[in-house]
Amino acid sequence: MMGKSQLSLNETVAMLNHVAAGIEASKDQLTEADIAIGDGDHGMGMARGFEAVRGKLAAESFTSLDQLFKTVGMTLMGTMGGASGAIFGTLFRGGSKNLANQTVFTSESLALLLGDGLNAIKERGKAKVGDKTMVDALEPAAMKAQACVSAPLDESLPVVAEAAQQGMEYTKTIVATLGRAKTLGERALGHPDPGAVSMYLILNYMAEYVTQSEG
Ligand code: ADP
Ligand code: MG
Repeated sequence: MMGKSQLSLNETVAMLNHVAAGIEASKDQLTEADIAIGDGDHGMGMARGFEAVRGKLAAESFTSLDQLFKTVGMTLMGTMGGASGAIFGTLFRGGSKNLANQTVFTSESLALLLGDGLNAIKERGKAKVGDKTMVDALEPAAMKAQACVSAPLDESLPVVAEAAQQGMEYTKTIVATLGRAKTLGERALGHPDPGAVSMYLILNYMAEYVTQSEG
């Protein structure tokens, strides 16, 4: 029972389809997270965005990783709306920056995707760790990915997802200093940031794809 140490372009598309289907199936969980500390639209936005991504991946063909991830980012930006449309769109759009002409997705590609995506998100939204946003899940994941560049993907992605999960758990312990949850103050304690939950789920579904033995 072997996982995948790296992915071809077609397998990378398949991984993104797996992520998209997983996010769509997680819609209610994300809605509940956003009802607790926001306005309740996060699940609908993420599900709508990733449904559009699946449609786009089915309709188009891709010749490089940067083209693929850029398309995912633009599709999320164009269909989601809300703060998270810009944020998760920027993750993939900004993350594609250093993947030009690449056709094999490795742990190094993952580190570039997450590192460049994080930098673009921080530049755009000005959030830093401790503000109770998806950055609290993404930054530790990007750092873990950077530490795992020479590992096979089926070893790096599970620990990268675990770092994101710990970051998401950390958001339960802090109050928000940005976005809608800011007005809640201490009432946000005990609840995770919805975008951090999404960030963890995206990486967890990626890990699920590379560790499954068939497909
Ligand atoms: P909205 O806040 O417009 O209702 P969503 O509910 O879809 O949008 O998404 C909220 C999520 O967006 C938050 O949980 C947070 O993780 C993320 N977010 C909001 N503002 C920022 C920011 N400036 N930087 C990073 N992430 C952010
Ligand atoms: Mg919301």
